[in-house]
Amino acid sequence: MAKANHLHCSFCGRNRDEVKILIAGQEGHICENCVEHAQEIIVQELNSKSDTANGSSGFKLNVRKPAEIKKFLDEYVIGQDDAKKVLSVAVYNHFKRVTQKQQPDDIEIEKSNIIMVGETGTGKTLLAKTIARLLNVPFAIVDATVFTEAGYVGEDVESMLTRLLQNCNYDVAAAERGIVYVDEIDKIARKGDNPSITRDVSGEGVQQGLLKMLEGTEVLVPPQGGRKHPEQKMIKVDTKNILFICGGAFDGIDKVIARRVNTNAIGFSVNKDEQEMQRKNLLQFINAQDLKSFGLIPELLGRLPVVTHLNPLDQETLRSILTEPKNSLMKQYTRLFEMEGIELVMDKEVLDFMVSKALEYKLGARGLRSICESILTDAMFELPGTDTKQLHVTKNYAEQMFNKSKLSALKVA
Ligand code: ADP
Repeated sequence: MAKANHLHCSFCGRNRDEVKILIAGQEGHICENCVEHAQEIIVQELNSKSDTANGSSGFKLNVRKPAEIKKFLDEYVIGQDDAKKVLSVAVYNHFKRVTQKQQPDDIEIEKSNIIMVGETGTGKTLLAKTIARLLNVPFAIVDATVFTEAGYVGEDVESMLTRLLQNCNYDVAAAERGIVYVDEIDKIARKGDNPSITRDVSGEGVQQGLLKMLEGTEVLVPPQGGRKHPEQKMIKVDTKNILFICGGAFDGIDKVIARRVNTNAIGFSVNKDEQEMQRKNLLQFINAQDLKSFGLIPELLGRLPVVTHLNPLDQETLRSILTEPKNSLMKQYTRLFEMEGIELVMDKEVLDFMVSKALEYKLGARGLRSICESILTDAMFELPGTDTKQLHVTKNYAEQMFNKSKLSALKVA
């Protein structure tokens, strides 16, 4: 065996006293410089070998079959089966299109951008976000209301790509396969059917601005967002393979649908209760025609070929949202207490109480979190550091906590 003073790196030959660290292997040694160098070689090699569809920011496209996508969505999103199915297929086809090799027959698969219609807080953003997570692609959420037509106060539509680039550390190749969720698309509907004499810079103007982007074009994006300055260096992003998912509540669109659909024909041959339920949720019959009547321009609708709807959340669904999703609120709070060595025990009636308050205050699923907070904040403040081993939340306690919270002061509309 070699003596300590004769030890040297078997790769670069440096002696033990010339290096900081010498790692022993079975028959030799390696110094920290060579480890670093080897690491660089590995990264370079892997990058050059990796599929061109994979960028350098760790986003490795993970395409799944539609049934697998839906199954994954089921773990995080409760209900909304129609939307999940439509989204799974659209996303699957989109990525088939992205990864397809050039075919000799010139059949070009068109983009399947999606529009989701459903009340606020029913899971539109959650669906889009969950899909992006499954596919491991960059994802950005943008709000359509901040955009104005180019040249007016507000943001240019290009800034949505800035958000996407920022979310993947400016890996352009990854961003070009990303998903952008455009929220509140209904807010840029044309106001009224008559073209107004004043310019509609935040409605139809923005819709026009979105057209090219949704279809696929090369856009010069300001890396830090904001307005374009002549001296600012722009990043060129091709939106051809970016999937756009738009969402909106489209308040009042049920009346438009009702007008179109012959209500007598709905539920033909189903019983009265069923008819009543279908009438209540007219959104399920939504189509592009209704969205056009609402004020989206036909050119924009043409670029959003997949239309789907989300159902309003009823009591049962809200109850499941509290406990069932993989990272449900209850699981999250249980973990938070667990980390303090405290077991959280919540009576069933407390869950029902929270759901009833969310419905009563018209807070929807988004409100469940604030309600949980209002009930548990005192305990989360007081218990850490004490030797309490269990927190048992009864309905009485929950009511007491809720009533003294600011939330209970909200007036029901
Ligand atoms: P939207 O985009 O439709 O306004 P979100 O997707 O942002 O609503 O939903 C708000 C929150 O409510 C989500 O973060 C999630 O915690 C919860 N939520 C809403 N709908 C569902 C659902 N169907 N399943 C599970 N959680 C939901």
